[in-house]
Amino acid sequence: MQIAENLVALIHYTLKNEAGEVLDSSAGQEPLPFVCGANNIVAGLENALLGKVVGDKLDVTVKPEEGYGEVREELVQKVDRENFQGIDDIAVGMQFMAEAPWGQQPVTVVSVEDDGVTLDGNHPLAGQTLLFSVEVTEVREATEDELAHGHVHGEGCNHDH
Ligand code: ZN
Repeated sequence: MQIAENLVALIHYTLKNEAGEVLDSSAGQEPLPFVCGANNIVAGLENALLGKVVGDKLDVTVKPEEGYGEVREELVQKVDRENFQGIDDIAVGMQFMAEAPWGQQPVTVVSVEDDGVTLDGNHPLAGQTLLFSVEVTEVREATEDELAHGHVHGEGCNHDH
């Protein structure tokens, strides 16, 4: 069975940046499952996997526009400390969920000053070229629920329904 839209595929992967540093890997863990066509993985990787079968191994270079997007300066904003009432120790690197016009947006604290806190709403991998090494370990039909929800069910599925 070839990977195609509305099928579930499982892959082992290693993700490196252009400097060759390993950013993420499924080594030693369960392979990563995704519903093809449901935006579970970045577009550049999914497109490269279309038509692949179990056992296929490939290296995929994903540019930012097909990965996590370019860095957008407008997503870096300084806000008043009053927005963090109840949080005593705001430190660089902390992550919060913020209300954005388009919904909940994860933001990372990039600096803390006396007059405010600077937050970055860009994905940590925005602007980066991503180098994936992947191996396809399983391809199967998706269940109706999986297609309706747009994600894979099974062990590790921890949402409320
Ligand atoms: Zn679900």
